[in-house]
Amino acid sequence: MSDHVAIVTGGTRGIGAAICHKLKGLGYTVVANYGGNDEKAQAFSKETGVPVAKFDVGDYDAVQDAVARIAEEHGTVDVLVNNAGITRDGTLMKMDREMWEDVIRVNLGGCFNMAKAVFPGMKDKGWGRIVNIGSINGQGGQYGQVNYAAAKSGIHGFTKALAQEGARFGITVNALAPGYIDTDMVAAVPEPVLEKIVAKIPVGRLGQAEEIARGVAFLCGEDSGFVTGSTLSMNGGQHMY
Ligand code: NDP
Repeated sequence: MSDHVAIVTGGTRGIGAAICHKLKGLGYTVVANYGGNDEKAQAFSKETGVPVAKFDVGDYDAVQDAVARIAEEHGTVDVLVNNAGITRDGTLMKMDREMWEDVIRVNLGGCFNMAKAVFPGMKDKGWGRIVNIGSINGQGGQYGQVNYAAAKSGIHGFTKALAQEGARFGITVNALAPGYIDTDMVAAVPEPVLEKIVAKIPVGRLGQAEEIARGVAFLCGEDSGFVTGSTLSMNGGQHMY
């Protein structure tokens, strides 16, 4: 059991919701952030008892205000899971500047904004856990996703750099790179494309959000104190280094 306070960005759906369930079950006080889907967030909160906080992780000032309010209400944030993410897919030829900037701002900028807000409190406490959700497509690239692959690849670099800064304060910083997981994000992939993707996954299926949540829980816990700057790949064997 843990008495730590955790924020999970994009915690009201998909992988984030599974992470919230898992951490709450382990005794963490969990707050789930979300971006705009109020109906989904309220339903999630009602079902799980997890409080929700609406703010755009890509908006620096909004993040600082929201995290300060959460800390006031629940206590210093000990655990941050940077999970919020979006896709705006298209080949370079079809990708406009807005599609590029949106994805970099939310997926990568969100990690910076959130880390800025929680790092000082963790440093003062001498303990903290930051887990950044990367992607198999940040590791290997993906056709039609120069924005998403760049942002996710950036998360892996961000993780390794911040891990070096956090280590002497008892703060670990790790990334978890999921493969294809059965969520709304993957449901948006056209069926024929998805069939080809699944055919390339050695275990022969999509991953489940709960499986990712178990990996995140390890990286958030006391037992992972010697793990920092690492990337845990959970992809059914689709991409191996
Ligand atoms: P979903 O699309 O199911 O959920 C995304 C969550 O992020 C929602 O809660 C959404 O809130 C929130 N969100 C989106 N934009 C913002 C924003 N600007 N500010 C705050 N919250 C925001 O995603 P998944 O569960 O599929 O993915 C979760 C993470 O895992 C993402 O980072 C994704 O890139 C990564 N990932 C997913 C894979 C997969 O196969 N599903 C594979 C590899 C990585 P709202 O409901 O309000 O829109």
